[in-house]
Amino acid sequence: MNDFSRITRGIRAGIESDTGQGSVVPPIYLSTNYTFTGLGEPRDFDYSRSRNPTRALLGEAVATLEGGAGGVITASGMGAVSTVLHALLGPSDTVIIPHDCYGGTWRIFDAYHRKGLCRVVTIDFTDLDQVRKAVAEHRPRLVWVETPSNPLLRLTDLAEVVAIAHAADALVLADNTFLSPILQRPLEHGVDLVMHSTTKYINGHSDVVGGAVISATSELHEQISWWANTIGVTGGAFDSYLTIRGLRTLHTRIRAHEENAAAVVGLLTDHDAVRVVHHPSLPDHPGHEIAARQQDGFGSIVSLELHGGRDAVTAFAAALQCFSLAESLGGTESLVCHPSSMTHAAMTPEAQAVAGLSDGLVRLSVGIEPAEDLVADLTAGLDAAAHTHD
Ligand code: PLP
Repeated sequence: MNDFSRITRGIRAGIESDTGQGSVVPPIYLSTNYTFTGLGEPRDFDYSRSRNPTRALLGEAVATLEGGAGGVITASGMGAVSTVLHALLGPSDTVIIPHDCYGGTWRIFDAYHRKGLCRVVTIDFTDLDQVRKAVAEHRPRLVWVETPSNPLLRLTDLAEVVAIAHAADALVLADNTFLSPILQRPLEHGVDLVMHSTTKYINGHSDVVGGAVISATSELHEQISWWANTIGVTGGAFDSYLTIRGLRTLHTRIRAHEENAAAVVGLLTDHDAVRVVHHPSLPDHPGHEIAARQQDGFGSIVSLELHGGRDAVTAFAAALQCFSLAESLGGTESLVCHPSSMTHAAMTPEAQAVAGLSDGLVRLSVGIEPAEDLVADLTAGLDAAAHTHD
């Protein structure tokens, strides 16, 4: 298999590996424990919190897709964040995070900072001078990047941040949830760790909550594995099984998502009810040039700001039938969400203001339904939004 592309190797993970019955798809190992062949003679696996064959397969598949030395699978994306936090940060260590990162990420770092468990500095990563200044002033142990960011799709230049951080002996982590390894591989830009909420594109069917941490080196991978087991956040076998099943179609799903996102962006940029569209494919998006250089596609999360604020958002969401009003993203079905009252409600109003989250902001996760249905549905929603301020 080594001669094949990383995508083929990733999506064929474990195919034809069953020596027992010759099953094409690898069996699921639900057992919590494994017999020892004799006293002091464990097999490859002993207890499923530490290691489980089904979870290990998923970890290897995700690491293959990202080009990493190993992947640790956790019970949620936040489990992945917590594992990295425990593994790398202590009371005297500083982490620099984006001011507009995912609300749950912001919440855990803020809570740990307030408890004195680590030091957190929040900056705008689109401004490299702020990154340089913060790294020089705070000498961080870890620089945490989310690109594109949630929900405003701001872009961070990974190679530039890596150069700044590594010159100060800091590690860099990239949250690659929004693009998946099909569209972006941060390790290729020198990043040390990649994390995912596998809940999103990697599983892709909105039926598993999970996370992953992929390390550039085996040393970091061992450290992350040790902590995930120690704090008890490793993912379950059944979840891993389902996620492997989702992963096998990741590259085709991503292509379908992207085609639909292009149609949706075309509609939104042309409609009077829309004040601004945030999508890196747009030439006037501030991160367009970085996205074109750093990514293999522009992704299928699209944010827009409606004229008419929250009232317009209420009418828009109520009129939609093909976009379900729900949190999360990256599933086959299209979703609409209002970040300031939903995904980012964990942030204080002040933090939301700093991050630029307005009341009229809407985030779309463009699914893989036929594009013409999505465009017709959004047109109806935008017309309803426009009527709120006729
Ligand atoms: N990172 C990003 C960018 C996310 O969007 C999310 C969840 O929405 C997370 C991390 C947390 O993942 P989970 O919800 O799987 O715990």
